[in-house]
Amino acid sequence: MTHENKYIVIIGLGRFGMALCHELSQEGAQVLAIDIDEKNVRKAAEFATEAIVADCSDEETISELKLDDYDLAMVAIGEDVNASILTTLVLKEAGVKTVWVKAKDKFHAKILDKIGADKVIQPERDMGVRIAHHMLDQHIFEFIDLGCDIALAEVAVSDKYLGSKLMEHPCAKRSDINLLALKRGVEVDKYPSPEATFDKNDMLIVTGQKDKLIEVLRRL
Ligand code: ADP
Repeated sequence: MTHENKYIVIIGLGRFGMALCHELSQEGAQVLAIDIDEKNVRKAAEFATEAIVADCSDEETISELKLDDYDLAMVAIGEDVNASILTTLVLKEAGVKTVWVKAKDKFHAKILDKIGADKVIQPERDMGVRIAHHMLDQHIFEFIDLGCDIALAEVAVSDKYLGSKLMEHPCAKRSDINLLALKRGVEVDKYPSPEATFDKNDMLIVTGQKDKLIEVLRRL
């Protein structure tokens, strides 16, 4: 699937914004990269569709950029909370359809929520949650809290299930756990047969109510 008809603005090219910019460009999206710091803009220009130096907390600058033609803007200014809040306000007032914002902490997140950010992301906190589960149970490779008490996890199939059928796995036996896919290296089987037999290094992608999911995954 190509993403060349996706138009995305990234404001703030620190480590997070730059990584987004690079990955989105690799995926074929049309990326406009903006930062107040010329050095970062020069680096982003190596892969983004367009890269410009601008102060995005300035109303006039934003209106000149005509960002309302874009599908999504990400405000990836972390440290300077004032600039992040102002930029979010200016983007919303300029009519940018969807504004996602990176928050530094929960107070920053609360303000962003109140002023109308469409999605607030706390990468350090979210990554901390994911890594914690992997540290405690190393067979849990990913653990993502999807909100509303639902979580998604990627879990290694332990050697004791090698050669046994998918339907014999504890995740398949539980009616409150949804088995979304069987991952085999780079191959993802989205509709695995209950009769499929497990190979070495197989992974399962599952969802369920957060506490129930943790309880099942820990015992695997
Ligand atoms: P990270 O933790 O991802 O490295 P930082 O907060 O360190 O994030 O980086 C944020 C980036 O946002 C910096 O490159 C900074 O120059 C840029 N920035 C800060 N204020 C503005 C602004 N008003 N307009 C555009 N870019 C800004």
